[in-house]
Amino acid sequence: MTYDNQNIFAKILRGEIPCIKLFEDAHTLAFMDIMPQAEGHALVIPKEPATTLFELSDEAAAACMATVRRIGNAQKKGLGATGIVLMQLNGAEAGQTVPHFHIHVIPGSIADLRRPHATALADTAHLKAVSEKIVASI
Ligand code: 5GP
Repeated sequence: MTYDNQNIFAKILRGEIPCIKLFEDAHTLAFMDIMPQAEGHALVIPKEPATTLFELSDEAAAACMATVRRIGNAQKKGLGATGIVLMQLNGAEAGQTVPHFHIHVIPGSIADLRRPHATALADTAHLKAVSEKIVASI
């Protein structure tokens, strides 16, 4: 699959548009989802350009999982989350809306994910306040 370097997450990686950052290392970036399906909904992306899991290198996939664990642990500690849902969509046919590989890290239960996917923008100040609780627990 051809990678579109104008996608929104590529722009976030290049610093062309802002994000509420949670964590960054040499291979990954974690930030708040602006249309969260639950309080604390975070995204983990690789710096490597890949549209889906099937184009991603094994090394980048492993780096993403390490960051997912770091964020999930911080959501547990900082937000008191007892369950963490991971979601990862591959291809528009699966419902993927941003064509740069990403893993959703969502505190709560699958039973609570009633908000539709990627629809309602959250208040930025509220997202920032939630992000600070996560960052303080990383
Ligand atoms: P997908 O549908 O591709 O699995 O998920 C894309 C996610 O990216 C959605 O949950 C959506 O809310 C989120 N999203 C879309 N545009 C932006 C943006 O500009 N900034 C951030 N932080 N999240 C975004």
